[in-house]
Amino acid sequence: MPLLLLDLDNTLVDRDASFRKAAAEFLAEHALPEADLDWLMRLDASGYTPRQDVARAMSERYDGSLPESAVHQLLDRGAAERVILPEATREALGTAVADGWVCAVVTNGRVAQQETKIRNTGLDRLVHGWVISEAVGHKKPAPEIFHAAAASVGAALDGAWMIGDAPHADIRGAQGIGARSVWVSGGRPWTETTYRPTHIAQDAAAAIAHVVTHVGTPVTTYDIRTDYWK
Ligand SMILES: [Mg+2]
Repeated sequence: MPLLLLDLDNTLVDRDASFRKAAAEFLAEHALPEADLDWLMRLDASGYTPRQDVARAMSERYDGSLPESAVHQLLDRGAAERVILPEATREALGTAVADGWVCAVVTNGRVAQQETKIRNTGLDRLVHGWVISEAVGHKKPAPEIFHAAAASVGAALDGAWMIGDAPHADIRGAQGIGARSVWVSGGRPWTETTYRPTHIAQDAAAAIAHVVTHVGTPVTTYDIRTDYWK
C-alpha cells in the first residue's frame, strides 16, 4: 500500500487566509486601524513566530489596552476555527484514497490547534491518520516525525511521497527519508540549490493528482553523490 504524506498548513488548508480573516475581525472588534492587518500578518509570519512573541508585540503596540483573553483567542484559535478544505483538494484526496493510497497528515504545531483544523475540515474522516509534532516531540524535517506518521497508519516509508509547501520542513524532510516529494508552490519560484522536490505543483489538488497518476514510478532519480534530484 503506497503511503502519501501530507502537510497541513498552507498545503491542504489555507492557514494564512484563515488567520487573515480572524485578524481582520479582531481589529474591527477592538476598533483598531484596519491598516494594521498587514503588520499583524508580517508579525504572525505564517504562524512561525512563537505565539508569546506575537502577544507581546501586540501588547506593546496597543499599550496593553487589549484584553489578554481576546489576544489568546485570536492566536490560539483564530486560524484553526476558520480553515476550510478546498473542494478540489477534498476530491483529490478522495481519489487518492479510492486508488489505495494510505494518507497521513504530518504537521508541525500544537495538538489542540492542529486537531481542531483536522476535525473542522472533515480531514479526520478522509485521511487514515495524522501526526502532530507536539505529540511526538519531533518537528519536520526530522526523520522521526515521518517514521511516526508511517507507523501511525501501519505503512512503510518505501515508495512514500510527501506533499508540502515548506522547502526545508517538507521537501528537505522528504529527502531525508528517501521519499519523493511535490512542492506546493502557490506560484513561488523554487530557490534552494542543494535539494529540490521531485515535482512542483501550484496547489495541493494538483500535487495529489500528480502523485496518484505517477504511482509505480521507480525511485531512481535521486543521485546520492550530488545530493540532487534529477
Ligand atoms: Mg505548511
